[in-house]
Amino acid sequence: MESTCPDIAHDASSAVPPETPAVTSFDQLDLSPIMLRSLRRLGYEVPSSIQAQVIPHARENVHQVGQARTGPGKTAAFGIPILEMLDPLREVHDPQALILVPTRELAEQVSQELERLAFGCKTSITVLAGGKLLRRQMTQLQAGTQIVVGTPGRVLDHIHRKTLILHDIWCVVLDEADRMLDIGFRPAIERILRACPKDRQTMLLSATMPTEIQRLSERYLQDPVRINCSLSQVSVQTIEQRYISVAQENKYQTLIRLLEREVPRQAIVFCRTKRGTDRLHRNLKEEFARLPALRDLHLDCIHGDMNQRDRDRVFASLRGGEVQLLIATDVVGRGIDVSTVSHIINYDMPLDCDDYVHRVGRTGRMGRDGIAFTFVAPGEGPQLTAIEQNINRLLIRDTLLEAGNNTDDRISDSSALVSSLHDVETTQPSDTTETAALPRRKRLFPKRRSTERLAKLNPRVE
Ligand code: AMP
Repeated sequence: MESTCPDIAHDASSAVPPETPAVTSFDQLDLSPIMLRSLRRLGYEVPSSIQAQVIPHARENVHQVGQARTGPGKTAAFGIPILEMLDPLREVHDPQALILVPTRELAEQVSQELERLAFGCKTSITVLAGGKLLRRQMTQLQAGTQIVVGTPGRVLDHIHRKTLILHDIWCVVLDEADRMLDIGFRPAIERILRACPKDRQTMLLSATMPTEIQRLSERYLQDPVRINCSLSQVSVQTIEQRYISVAQENKYQTLIRLLEREVPRQAIVFCRTKRGTDRLHRNLKEEFARLPALRDLHLDCIHGDMNQRDRDRVFASLRGGEVQLLIATDVVGRGIDVSTVSHIINYDMPLDCDDYVHRVGRTGRMGRDGIAFTFVAPGEGPQLTAIEQNINRLLIRDTLLEAGNNTDDRISDSSALVSSLHDVETTQPSDTTETAALPRRKRLFPKRRSTERLAKLNPRVE
């Protein structure tokens, strides 16, 4: 367990407005002795930027919209104030706080973090996520619960069955709101919000603030305070980011060579489709048996078509360190908090910049080092550029594995041009090159045009 959290500390000093006194300790947040003891036990010393900003407002019952990317201690930001303000179960039988998240895995993860934070207090938390037995969830609700953490579909199901009573809800959290809208939860979220008491407090957390999210916040939040901890260059700051130009048909061999070269402590390889994930998993499994350097690497895969029991098993083995190589789709990659992941490999280019930040954010957690590789196939140069513009940083070209790929004649003109720009620009000494040279590239791919092109190139799969 980390005793301090350097990335968080950095984040705090840069994102808190100048007039706000810097919060350097949880003691400054007016928390109960029992909560302070629990935080000390967890080794949390310095509140992250989002924690320093959200906790005081939450305790004042103020609605909040927080823009926060990956890994800044979001769960504790809303979890601490909720736990501090709960009425005991013997006084209030039905749930008082409702936390909505996009995936089952995230629901479990949030619930476990809340349980850790609640150490020493009798707290009842119920997870309502799909893939688990409805009956068991009903029994838990009947027995009384203080906090519900759930996915919108299953929560709505319980509301319809009248097994989830929302009269006593005073706080609703929408975590990863952009992703929940992406995967079609909007109608469910709106129905749930309408079923909650009007005088509740709502906290909406999202990595991005597209118009849809803003509309949601205008409709369901009253005079929200806006909090922005979205500095993408901070959230991926400790992560070295490289790209490899590779023809589609050479990706598989390049992956093998990359794994042989890196022998990662723990890696996640991201694919775009469920079928592609399965195929890669099958092929690698056979291949590993033949390769001495990789023979001992335990691998598994995870995607949205697998049943919940298998997903839970794979997730637990990743956390426990038994799985060293996980092949995954974005659906399950998002929100995974496993601090031991050392390598991220984007075998398929992410569909948008947010997916890139989320994937890469699975490594370098809590100040640890991490490295991310992105395979760029011919024609994908514009996507790479769009990502770089978004994170305001150039990825380093890793040429060691390119021999034999002969990318130049395969990559389209435009991406060859981008690649040659990379060669020039990444010869600078630092790998955290802030993109002072970006205006040059912007002229090549103006942001709007490249976004439109991205949309055309990438119909959403998965
Ligand atoms: P989250 O962004 O909520 O997924 O949290 C990421 C990780 O940071 C989790 O493992 C938390 O236990 C840990 N964490 C949250 N807040 C702090 C803090 N203030 N100091 C150290 N670790 C933290």
